[in-house]
Amino acid sequence: MERQEIWKQLDQHFDILIIGGGITGAGAARDAVYRGLKVALIEMNDLAFGTSSRSSKLVHGGLRYLESYEFSLVFEAVSERRTLMNIAPHLVNPLGFLFPVYKGSRRSSFTISLGMWVYDGLSLFRSPKIHRSLSKKDVQKEEPALLYTKLKSTPLYYDCSTDDARLTLETALDAKKHGATIATYTKVVGMVTENGRITGVRVQDQFSGEEKEIKANSVINATGPWSDRTRTLEKEGTLKLRPTKGVHIVFDKERLPINNAVVCFHPIDGRVLFAIPWGDRTYVGTTDTDFIEDLGEVAATKEDVQYLLEVSNQYFPKVDLKEEDVIATWAGVRPLLSNEDAEDESKVSREHVIFVEEDGLVTIAGGKLTTYRRMATEVVDKSIDWLRLTDKLPSLKKNRKDTAVEALPGGVGWPDNDDFEAVAAQLLAKTELGISMETAVLLVNSYGMCAFDILKIMEENPELIAPLNDGRPEVLAQVYYAVKDELAERISDVLIRRTQIFYRDFNQGLDCVQRVGDMMAELLNWSAETKQKAIEEYQSDVARSRQWQNA
Ligand code: FAD
Repeated sequence: MERQEIWKQLDQHFDILIIGGGITGAGAARDAVYRGLKVALIEMNDLAFGTSSRSSKLVHGGLRYLESYEFSLVFEAVSERRTLMNIAPHLVNPLGFLFPVYKGSRRSSFTISLGMWVYDGLSLFRSPKIHRSLSKKDVQKEEPALLYTKLKSTPLYYDCSTDDARLTLETALDAKKHGATIATYTKVVGMVTENGRITGVRVQDQFSGEEKEIKANSVINATGPWSDRTRTLEKEGTLKLRPTKGVHIVFDKERLPINNAVVCFHPIDGRVLFAIPWGDRTYVGTTDTDFIEDLGEVAATKEDVQYLLEVSNQYFPKVDLKEEDVIATWAGVRPLLSNEDAEDESKVSREHVIFVEEDGLVTIAGGKLTTYRRMATEVVDKSIDWLRLTDKLPSLKKNRKDTAVEALPGGVGWPDNDDFEAVAAQLLAKTELGISMETAVLLVNSYGMCAFDILKIMEENPELIAPLNDGRPEVLAQVYYAVKDELAERISDVLIRRTQIFYRDFNQGLDCVQRVGDMMAELLNWSAETKQKAIEEYQSDVARSRQWQNA
């Protein structure tokens, strides 16, 4: 749909308007539209521009919460893990986590083993796989790079990995498919109030600068680390968040070869970190430091990279990782709650909070990617309470679809028990285009059954089979699809959040930026000047992620 058309759609009067197109806002939009409400989702940048594309990319129960006996929190998260595996089988994949216990560790092998039984038990023994213990011989075979001396025991448990940006995108696209209006690059710059109640928002198109008011009976603020800023756009208010920064660094798999995620404790402060296998790459993270600067400009510093290299070299001493091995970095801001009373306001979990202000603004902050669906239900319930209170609640759908059961777009039609290779083989069997198995697996892994839509595009335009970057599996058809079907508007939307080339390519996509710019210019009718600006914006995104090198 053209941007102008979406802009026009914003003239409707909405039941619920959600500010923020991260996983929380996208989840809320999907939940609300399934209930039969008229919904708008407003995002100032691209979908998943904020924390939702900068997480550790895990759908996990949070084994560490067992140490503080937070069983209900873990139960909720492992239940959601199962749900997400069902509704997004292409995006939420089982991953083994090795928990090496060395002599002198503060945690005994017995306690850890007990914790893992409880962890599997809380998932009602429906973990992706039940935990087991590896013998020293197995460890040497499976993880030859891992520090082996003084190893006491090595349990292996299972959680899931995901593509956080695509999980957010597919959630939003499903909401759109069911009737939600989704406006990206549209910033909420003010609240509209009548008699002390919020009746809408004022937005600004981030490309044209044009402004307009949108009417809504309830407004949800799902702006993650920006939520205090959004709450206080027009009024004073106590701050609820204490944002902290989390950084990850990416290595080539050849430099840090691991087959399972490895749970690490930092040698200096004892914090838990992960080394995570990621196809042809491995990433390590995360840091956790206070962050009070510009949320849109968050980036890794030299100290962050050093801190992550220290833990990497402690656990994998043989590979001797250096700064020059770091291919890419990413930094995200946790929307953490700052004070005790905020915790008290939370109904279900101490990880997130929902509060309704006097003017009716419903704010949700904190939480995890993993539990987004439940958070979404809770926040929409709160919004519905407000609609009821103000006599604005329309009739809701009686036999509505269940967000826990309906698959996300790429999961629709996913064959039971089939793995990526099997679905990729089906894809290849449908074409004579000569697509490589590597590309087919990448497409199936990223798009699920929508990979068949990309195949159709390639059948109709065989020149789009060309790789985006020489030697890599991503193809030009992905750019076409991102623009035509996935609301991509800028080069970063494609290279960072739709394809991950920014993180995975040795040159972070700089070699294909011109090509992607040319194609997007054609598809989006960009002028030469707009194209040049888009290319420069992408180059500065890469430069920001590398600025630690110049410190
Ligand atoms: P965001 O994703 O930040 O979305 C907020 C959106 O609001 C942004 O896109 C922003 O552009 C938009 N916005 C802001 N102001 C405006 C405005 N005025 N108008 C319009 N739009 C606006 N959770 C897990 O379950 N697993 C993990 O492995 C995990 N790892 C993590 C690692 C790190 C380093 C961090 C920081 C978090 C991690 N989390 C993890 C937590 C999880 O990522 C976050 O809780 C979640 O992504 C927050 O999503 P959100 O939608 O609330 O916020």
